[in-house]
Amino acid sequence: MKINLNKKNIKYLIFAIIVVAIFILVLLFCLKGKQDYKSILSCYDLKLSYDENSHILKGEEEVVYVNNSDNSFEKLYFHLYPNAFREGAKIGVVSQPNIDNAYPNGKSFGNIKIKTVCDNEGKEFQYSIEGSDENILSVSLKDMLYPDEKVLIKIEFEVSLANINHRLGYGENTINFGNFYPIACVYEEGKGFCQDLYHSNGDPFYSDCANYKAEISFKSDFQIASTGKLVSSETVGKITKNIYSEKNIRDFCFSLSKNFEKVTRKVGKTNVNYYGYKDDDNIEKCLQVACDALSTFNDFFGEYPYDEFSVVKSNFVHGGMEYPEIVLISDKIIDERDLNYVIVHEIAHQWWYGIVGNDEYNHAWIDEGLTEYSTLLFFEKNTKYGENFKEMINNAQKNYLLFEDVYKKVTGQVDGTMDRPLDKFNTEPEYSQCVYTRGVLMFNSFRESIGKNKFMKALKIIQEKYRYKNISPAQLIAVFEKFGGRETESFFHNWLFDKVIFTKG
Ligand SMILES: [Zn+2]
Repeated sequence: MKINLNKKNIKYLIFAIIVVAIFILVLLFCLKGKQDYKSILSCYDLKLSYDENSHILKGEEEVVYVNNSDNSFEKLYFHLYPNAFREGAKIGVVSQPNIDNAYPNGKSFGNIKIKTVCDNEGKEFQYSIEGSDENILSVSLKDMLYPDEKVLIKIEFEVSLANINHRLGYGENTINFGNFYPIACVYEEGKGFCQDLYHSNGDPFYSDCANYKAEISFKSDFQIASTGKLVSSETVGKITKNIYSEKNIRDFCFSLSKNFEKVTRKVGKTNVNYYGYKDDDNIEKCLQVACDALSTFNDFFGEYPYDEFSVVKSNFVHGGMEYPEIVLISDKIIDERDLNYVIVHEIAHQWWYGIVGNDEYNHAWIDEGLTEYSTLLFFEKNTKYGENFKEMINNAQKNYLLFEDVYKKVTGQVDGTMDRPLDKFNTEPEYSQCVYTRGVLMFNSFRESIGKNKFMKALKIIQEKYRYKNISPAQLIAVFEKFGGRETESFFHNWLFDKVIFTKG
């Protein structure tokens, strides 16, 4: 067949090409839209007001929960972490040896009360407080929530703070608000909603990234350090109301104090804030460590995606605690080297926990192991801090062997299993040796087997691939396998399940 391309036919041909091109563009747009829709985030809108006399935080929370799974839900579940602080809780919020430091004025209790749970029209959902220790809010939905659908839930709550030097509680210098509001349980295919209980070991948390807005009212003589970008601040009478917002974060934390002194410097696009106490003489030094850490980890793992980041001195029983865009550092740390170490460690968590998350209850070795090893990588690069990388590795090995010796003598056996839930570690030293120290030794051993360049590249790939997501042990090992070959899986298996024999070197 012969086609005669006269003027009219050419017009039709051009018209047909344009129609096909538009069709392809629309199709591509729809497919992309479908992909994006799968990753639409849930939103938390918090309205909070704190009364310092009663130590009560009143809160209204509007959650737009998006079902990003392939299953349908008739109920949703939220963690009620503040109930771990209540009188009669099954598990203490600190282990026995830390009780005196945590409660300087004697035992004190707090809790969370759920006042109402309503839909967008103000009609109540059926709800109940469940879990093995009043740790879960269960909300019965009025209609089945199918994949890709969303539902709006308004929760009115009241948190009563304990007098405790902890992530949630008031102390002499700061009032800390960590894990204070009902936060949705992560849904895992094949496992369901993860509802693990609070535990005194480690950071017993697990959440998905979401978008946040928070309006916080507090007495104007307080200063505030918070997750998020400050959108507005107004003071009426004696009350200040600050509004913060942020996208793609997996939690929200703030701290109040009448004793803060703040200094700020820019690293890349991020304002790095250090909140020390008034009259501290090391404020500039601490800010310098924070800036060096952010800058180093920007190079190692990819640029920090948020505009604000704060390091906050705080009355806190442990060394430090990480939240998105804010870390708490204990005011009990006096030694400069210890302080540097903790600041760097907590900042490394911004990448391992914050940007790439994981189930910290069941696989704490992922975020703590990678964070602790990243801390050593920082000191390896920043030699001005006077730490010696090889010495740090040797010390880790010595500490671990000492732990094995002592445990064998005292209990007759030692369990070096790294991959176990927090409640399956018998003591805090066992937890820290298995998760932190063994974590450092495991990642260093893997780095030695594949070389530093490949190891650093693998970490960068994990950050890119699992940005704003949660990573499982299998997914983490699969990335390393690309660099370490077929032996990689058994390498990690041996380390994680106590099959590596240590020898005194
Ligand atoms: Zn840590």
